This record gives sequence, structure tokens and C-alpha cells, in this order.
Amino acid sequence: MEQLVRLIRSEVRMEKPYFVGGSDESNCKLNQNECPFDLPREIKTEILKKFEQIQFNRYPASQPSELISVLAEHHNLPEGSVLVGNGSNDLTQTLALCFISAGTRVVLPRPMFALYESVVRMHGGEVVPIAPLKSLDFDIDGIVESASDSSVVLTIVASPNNPTGLSVPFDAIEHLCEKAPGFVVIDEAYHEFCLDQSSISLMDRYPNLIVMKTLSKAFGLAGIRIGYLLGHPQVMSEILKARLPFMVDRFSEITAIELVKRSDLLAERVRVLKADISDLTEELKAIPGVVVVPSTTNFVLFKTDIAPERLATILAKRGVIIRTLSSYPELDGYLRVSTGTPSENKAFITALKFALIESP
Ligand code: PMP
Repeated sequence: MEQLVRLIRSEVRMEKPYFVGGSDESNCKLNQNECPFDLPREIKTEILKKFEQIQFNRYPASQPSELISVLAEHHNLPEGSVLVGNGSNDLTQTLALCFISAGTRVVLPRPMFALYESVVRMHGGEVVPIAPLKSLDFDIDGIVESASDSSVVLTIVASPNNPTGLSVPFDAIEHLCEKAPGFVVIDEAYHEFCLDQSSISLMDRYPNLIVMKTLSKAFGLAGIRIGYLLGHPQVMSEILKARLPFMVDRFSEITAIELVKRSDLLAERVRVLKADISDLTEELKAIPGVVVVPSTTNFVLFKTDIAPERLATILAKRGVIIRTLSSYPELDGYLRVSTGTPSENKAFITALKFALIESP
């Protein structure tokens, strides 16, 4: 068996499997930055009616053309600027296939969504890590300096960032696009929650810019798996060659179309979630001994005097699942909690106060 396993590329064998932790069964699940609201029943019924019309024996289109057209309209861009994937993680693999081979240097600020480093390494690329500032903000000067090197093909920046919840200012992103001879990917998974202007408006001026979006967060479709890239049509048409056909199934496409058309629902949810995260942050700040990093997303980073694993276990025993961040050395002591419904947030705050009293 060992000999067989050794046939798997060492770059893959050396990685750890993606691990979320925490039980999916909990009814107070605040560990994956999900939207706490499922779709209203009437929208689900509409979608299911449409789904019934589909012939299950037929392939979907090789690329989801109807959804592409709805997204292009939503962003006021040509259809050729949009490339849809099975969640944005799927598109990260596509980008790696396009840009990374043995020794390719990829600038990745830290601490950032860990999947990026793992995918770069698995493709044989070299991660150029950029340490954060003391505030945990990305070191934009450090990123620009490294990205300016002509040997750097790709720089990826999540803004707002997971797991810190901090954003890179719009003009800093523009500066990066201007200075980088290679491609710059801005992951806007949480952008709907922040006040900054979207990087999409820079696409006209910087053909090296690719913006990554997802319907998993503000749109609340994490279970449906739709993400997309926006970029210069000529760049997108090359990247399209690296996509497997039929990767977006008809159910996901229909659901996404219905949701993207319902901008009223999105706006209302974002409004509610922004108010909830602001309340949650204030409540956390008011607890003596809790340190909070103010967030521009639907989750917040905090620490207490209790060791994170221990605190997470105490909360889990009370049915509240949050995220420990032990894989990020820069975030020693911190935990991350997503905003849930007001009653879930209340359950979290109550459990946290209990933990702080019980285990000082
Ligand atoms: N980017 C960031 C910054 C994320 O936090 C996540 C999910 N946690 C993703 C991308 C992946 O999103 P998707 O569900 O579209 O694969």
C-alpha cells in the first residue's frame, strides 16, 4: 500500500486535508461565515417548479450561459468578462492550473484564507508570504514590493479578508494593480458587507486584475456552490480553456439566476447582517477581558484569556460552534465567530459569558 500511495505526487501527500471542525448538527453553527438565513419558502418552491421541467438525462450547457448573462447584467459587464465555477474554491484550482507550475512564485499575504497556500503548493508553486502589520492589516507596501518583482506571476489578496475581517483600501488595490507586472486576484467573497468600492471598477484600467466573487456568503447559497471570476474578456477566454465542461449543474444555475435577480432580498439581508455584526461586536467589546478586531464582514475575530481550543470546547458543550484558528501562527489566541440570527448571537454571548465566569 505504501508504495502505491507514494505514486501520488509528494506535493499533494504533504498537505493536510481541508478541515473545518465543529459539528454540522449544531443548531447554533457560527463557524463557517455562512448566511444564517435559508431562502424563503416561496422562492424555494419557485425554483423547484423550474427544476421539475428539466430533463435529467441531458447534459447542462458546457458553460452556464444563462447565469453568465444574468451575472454580466448584474455587474454591467460584457458576458465575456464572466467565468462561472462550482463555488469560488473550484475557480482557485482553475487559476492554479492556468498560472502555476513548478517554482512559480505567488505572493500571498498572511494570515489569509488558507486554501490559497495549499493550492499553490500542490501545483508545485512557491508561496511568497507577506507578514501582516501589528494591527493584523495586510502590509500593502510589502505586498506591492514583492508583487513588483518580474518573476511573480500571481498575487492574491482577499479583501475583506478571512479570517481577520479587515479590508484593503481601494486605492491600495489600485496601486497594487498598477505596480504588479503579473496578475492580481482580488477575492471579494465578503465584499457585500463592507463599505469600500468594489475592485470591479478598476477592471477597465487594469487588464491584469481578476476579481473573484461567490454566492456563498451574502447571497446565502453556500450549499448550492456558485462562484465566478470577472476579468478582461481576452484573459477570461484563455482561462476558460482550463475549465472542465459541465461543471455547473442545472439546479445550481437555476437557483443562482433566481437569487441574483432578487437584488431586493440581497440588500435586505446585507442590511440585517451588517446591523447584527455591529451589535455582536459591541456586545463582545463590552465584556471585560475580550479583545475584538472590528470587522468589515459577517464574522468577527476576538480573543480572551482562555485558550481558544478550551473556549471552543466549552461553547460546543452549550451547543455553540465557533472557529479556532490554531493553523495561523499570527492569530495565536484568537477565535472567529460568524454572525447568526439575533437569537444565535445571544446564545453565543451567553455561552461566552458563562465560560469566562466558569474558567477565569
Ligand atoms: N474566499 C474566501 C476569502 C473565503 O472565506 C471562502 C469560504 N470560506 C471562499 C473564498 C470560498 O467560497 P466558495 O464557497 O465560493 O467556494
